[in-house]
Amino acid sequence: MGGGESEKRLFTKGLVFHENYLLHETGGHPERKERLMAIMDYLHEEAVLAQLALVEAREATLQEVALNHDPDYIEEIRRFCGRGGGHLDPDTVVCRDSYKAALWAVGGALAAVDAVLEGGLSSVFCAVRPPGHHALRNRAMGFCVFNNVAVAARYAREKGVERVLIVDWDAHHGNGTQVAFYDDPSVFYFSTHQWPLYPGTGRAEERGVGAGLGYTLNCPLPPGSGDEEFFRVYDQEFLPVALEYRPELILISAGYDAHELDPLTSLELTTQGYGRLAHRVARLAQEVRAPVVALLEGGYSLSALARSVAATIEALP
Ligand SMILES: [Zn+2]
Repeated sequence: MGGGESEKRLFTKGLVFHENYLLHETGGHPERKERLMAIMDYLHEEAVLAQLALVEAREATLQEVALNHDPDYIEEIRRFCGRGGGHLDPDTVVCRDSYKAALWAVGGALAAVDAVLEGGLSSVFCAVRPPGHHALRNRAMGFCVFNNVAVAARYAREKGVERVLIVDWDAHHGNGTQVAFYDDPSVFYFSTHQWPLYPGTGRAEERGVGAGLGYTLNCPLPPGSGDEEFFRVYDQEFLPVALEYRPELILISAGYDAHELDPLTSLELTTQGYGRLAHRVARLAQEVRAPVVALLEGGYSLSALARSVAATIEALP
């Protein structure tokens, strides 16, 4: 190998990170900026970072956020943060700069979608916060302000992607994402989550309505479920349906609170287990020739989070 190797290196995997994601200060809350710092430190230490194309994040426009949120709600968040912040709901705390961080989190997701649709990357992992999958059209919930994955799916649809698959492996059900696409066959929502647990949605009987019937797949799991239970659900319930759906883009609501070390939940996925879920998604992606964008959701054990994110990136195409 001669010189100039670095300029000629062809990346297939990308990463979104921006220091503005650290502006969202939450005090003693489990969803804290140290989560991203732990991820970035670990990716650097393990030399994963050097294998990734850094995708430039940006601020989402109001019009883009409004693809999934009421303009009045967006304005309410801007004002609430501008007055110094506080609690948006019992679980969701914001500071003065959280509005900016939230716009950048959405923008990071959109930059990643552009990078896989137009930039030639096969997958992008977005180390963004605040997370998004509980956020409703007009309401913050469960540490989430704007629904990053839902805006990303709508943005991809506007760009001509006909079928988007959302895989949500966070320990909690992504109620905000489900409701956004409940009657919409163009976005398939699949979730594994601990049951019973916050927010209380995501029963197996919830399968969509109208034209969307059959395009929501919920697989609730009892506390204590670990790798084997997850693999069974992926292999037997999810992958056959996903292959038939033939998504053109796969989004992952990548939450790491289903990890056995997570302090908030009682699922027992291992770090390797997360890698093997990501590997299953990667195989699906290759089979249907769809790129993958993973967006960070939960995950509150710093070491488990960092290692599981690395395992995910390793497995993605
Ligand atoms: Zn969660």
